[in-house]
Amino acid sequence: MSALLPTYARSGLSFARGKGAFLFTEAGERYLDFSSGIAVTALGHAHPRLIEALTAQANKVWHVSNLHHIAEQERLGERLCDATFADRVFFANSGAEAVEASIKAARRYHFVNGAPERYRLVTFGGAFHGRTLATIAAGGQSKHLEGFGPPVEGFDQVSGFDLEAVEAAIGDETAGVLLEPIMGEGGMREVPYRFLQDLRTLCDEKDILLVLDEVQSGVGRTGRFYAHEWADITPDIMATAKGLGGGFPVGACLTTEAVGQAMTPGSHGSTFGGNPLAMAVGNAVLDVVLAPGFLEHVAQMGLRLKQRLAGLADEHDDVIAEVRGQGLMVGLKCKVENQKLIAGLRERGMLTVQAGDNVVRLLPPLIVGEEEIDLACATIDTACAALKVSASENA
Ligand code: PLP
Repeated sequence: MSALLPTYARSGLSFARGKGAFLFTEAGERYLDFSSGIAVTALGHAHPRLIEALTAQANKVWHVSNLHHIAEQERLGERLCDATFADRVFFANSGAEAVEASIKAARRYHFVNGAPERYRLVTFGGAFHGRTLATIAAGGQSKHLEGFGPPVEGFDQVSGFDLEAVEAAIGDETAGVLLEPIMGEGGMREVPYRFLQDLRTLCDEKDILLVLDEVQSGVGRTGRFYAHEWADITPDIMATAKGLGGGFPVGACLTTEAVGQAMTPGSHGSTFGGNPLAMAVGNAVLDVVLAPGFLEHVAQMGLRLKQRLAGLADEHDDVIAEVRGQGLMVGLKCKVENQKLIAGLRERGMLTVQAGDNVVRLLPPLIVGEEEIDLACATIDTACAALKVSASENA
């Protein structure tokens, strides 16, 4: 019996090493990794720039705490601000912590600006924001809330991307609106640009904050540095994580100056957040992701993937209902049980991830090349064909 809490349904696979878009088992079996550890290993496995940054920092100093100035943290903070809407950054260790900090910052902003009653956030059905008590309340999914007592107060969930519903949910106690520009866990559902723009306007009109959770969609995943850039809007607060550390745990809450000012000394903190190792890797990730041409590469590969998948969806219309997503954040809405397609792909040496709404998520590393995309599509083709055969045999 395993000593670990049985919180995960594991595949049974165990990987000894990785290189680029591939993982290898102890026995040397090769897997094409279109999961990236759930949108984390943005630069693939064993990227030389990341190895160099991590080992160089490991030979200097690992951890000093936020009682002291951390040069690499200042640097990563500045670079994130230069490349985004943000003026201030708080570093954490995970996506949930980054969202948690974002929720606290939204509440605190109104508190210091004379409206302490404004603590509620409007959230969206099907959202996923993490597994802490506040973030499961924000996500509002009963399967995540069950058994953990009364949900944290202060989240008003609306369904669909319906502006009138959001307007109706906004009251005197509303601090802001929280959403993912593309719902990852919720089934790779893209929020229409127009809706994001309308939300921005609505938040301005009501004097409340737009809080974006770009934990999964950020750091180049959609072909822009952050997905909201496609809609030509900026948030007041944004949570980011996953790809930011390329596999090293890093999370961050980015804010405007007005919001950042509210987070006075002692109002929030983290022992590990922004430690020198994490920051060295984060800076190295940005060296690559923000280098000229990198995001264009992601957009091009995303286009190639989506075009190929559209063809496969036509060919296998009894398996694939729809292709969703943007850049290298793509979902296959299935007509068969999504787990069957995931298992079929795994049997053929390709890793993908499940999502809600019966979707299979394709999250290749951002360094993926044409050959790997073509290999992925060939594998999806054979896995779909095999599902068709087994369905007709069972008929
Ligand atoms: N927010 C979004 C949009 C996510 O996709 C995730 C994780 O999948 C989280 C938050 C939570 O991140 P973490 O698991 O690092 O706490």
